Parts: sequence; C-alpha cells; structure tokens
Amino acid sequence: MKKIIDNGLIIDVDDILTRKLHANPDYYVCQCSYCRNFCLTIKRNISKDLLKLIEDLGIDIQKPSEAVEFGMKNKMVHYIVDYHFVGGYDISTYSKNELNTETLDYAFFKNDKSLADKSFDPYDIVALRVNVHLPWNLKEDYEV
Ligand SMILES: [Zn+2]
Repeated sequence: MKKIIDNGLIIDVDDILTRKLHANPDYYVCQCSYCRNFCLTIKRNISKDLLKLIEDLGIDIQKPSEAVEFGMKNKMVHYIVDYHFVGGYDISTYSKNELNTETLDYAFFKNDKSLADKSFDPYDIVALRVNVHLPWNLKEDYEV
C-alpha cells in the first residue's frame, strides 16, 4: 500500500496490484465507438495533474469502465467514466461528496463496484469518476 494525498484527501492505494489487474489481457474494455473514442483521445485531453494522479494510482488510462456519454456540445463529447483501483481513503478528509458534472473533473467513490471489471471482486476498491469533454477523433461519424 502506498499513500497519496490529493486535494487533502488521504488515499491508500495498492498501485502494484492495481497495475497487475489492469494489465490482465482479459480485463474488459468496451469496444463501442464511444469507448474507443474515449481511449483514443483521453490522454491528450485531460489535465497533467489528473493524468499524473491516474498513473500514480496504478491505473491504465486505456482501461476505463464502460463510458457513459452525454451528447456532443461545441464539437466536444461529454463523458463520465469510472476507473478503479485497489485501496480506500479516509472519509474524514473527503470534501467532494458529490460529482457536480458542471464543475468537477473527477471524484472518488468508495467500494463502488457497479462498473468495475470482475477481477476487482475480491478487493476493496475505489472508483475514480472522471468527467471530461473530448473531441471526436474516430473516422466513423458520431451517432446521436
Ligand atoms: Zn462502450
């Protein structure tokens, strides 16, 4: 376990196990166009701080949960996606209890396994919910 402090939130993460689970070739990644576009564009379009946090947690940025997509506005697609890591956090240090999709880039949800790959089943996990607007870079058309 290693400790990470993010905006005052004290996180315990087993980054080694998280990395190992993400690296499993059977890890489920949806192949629909929305999810493929997410994986294609996410790394170049999120803040350096959030990218660093994701990497520090042992998360493979190409292994999100099924992307929930909220339509296109000003040529950007609005996504909310969970990433998962093995660990927990000190709730008393948590200030972002709700994900306000207008203002927050990300938030944490303790032991939310609803969209997690089944390889996380035996562990206590945290969902890192990422809220981003990404360009559509696939050759195929964006379909409403
Ligand atoms: Zn998908």
